[in-house]
Amino acid sequence: MLPKNLSFANRLIAALPAADRTEFLRQGELLELPLYAQLASAGELAVGAWFPVEGFVSAMVPVAGPEGLAIAQVGHEGMLPAALALGLPQAGFDYRVQMAGRAFVWRREVFAQCWQDSPRLREVLGRYVHLRLQQASRQSICAHHHSVSQRLVRALLVARDRMHSTELFLTHEVLARMLGVRRESVTQAASALQWRGLISYSRGYLMLLDEAALAALACPCYEVELRAYEQAMSATGLQMLSGAVVADAASTQGGAPACRTQAASLAAAHSGVSLWPACTLL
Ligand SMILES: [Zn+2]
Repeated sequence: MLPKNLSFANRLIAALPAADRTEFLRQGELLELPLYAQLASAGELAVGAWFPVEGFVSAMVPVAGPEGLAIAQVGHEGMLPAALALGLPQAGFDYRVQMAGRAFVWRREVFAQCWQDSPRLREVLGRYVHLRLQQASRQSICAHHHSVSQRLVRALLVARDRMHSTELFLTHEVLARMLGVRRESVTQAASALQWRGLISYSRGYLMLLDEAALAALACPCYEVELRAYEQAMSATGLQMLSGAVVADAASTQGGAPACRTQAASLAAAHSGVSLWPACTLL
């Protein structure tokens, strides 16, 4: 379930100490992410830094054909473009929304100032980049050693975690791009799961019916990456999901602080998105 207090809905933001988190969110906005919206383009200056709270965005590498290959997905555990986390202004990949949701966003210049001002923000983001590198290394091992069915189940569980729901809107085409396999392979694996009563699927609407059985079938990378994430984020005294953070959350419930919204909204740069100042959600 999505936390009521959205300041904790993105796990990187949740990992910040209270003072850093409050100041960071004070300068951001919450946007809706329409399906297939392109948030950044490879080699071009990033418009902003995006921290999803639900849905997910794929990092795409252009290849032959109109769509490109999805090499990574970013949801509530991450941010994009990862280059901004290292102080680089250009995006390394195309970033396209694959499951609609919402994200906190900072204009690039504003984010760069926050990054400069907060050592804790740099620390959290540095650890996130480290995790992304680990994931990239594991991806090739996964593709060679784990079956399409195992990898499909893992992708469904990750999508469930990112949407906070067992009801997912994912086409076989999107799943095939995520897994780097032919659509027919996804259809075959999904049909077998449906036949066993573990999922139901119809025209892009997918429901997970037996989460425990699916967890047992997922490739081991699912658990490995969950553990790596918890370890990387909790080993720092970053207070992630700790009692201190919960207490801090309660202390912010009393009222929204005065806030500064961005004069030039990022919504103007991304047609079809609407926004709320992030600080109204504190
Ligand atoms: Zn795997």
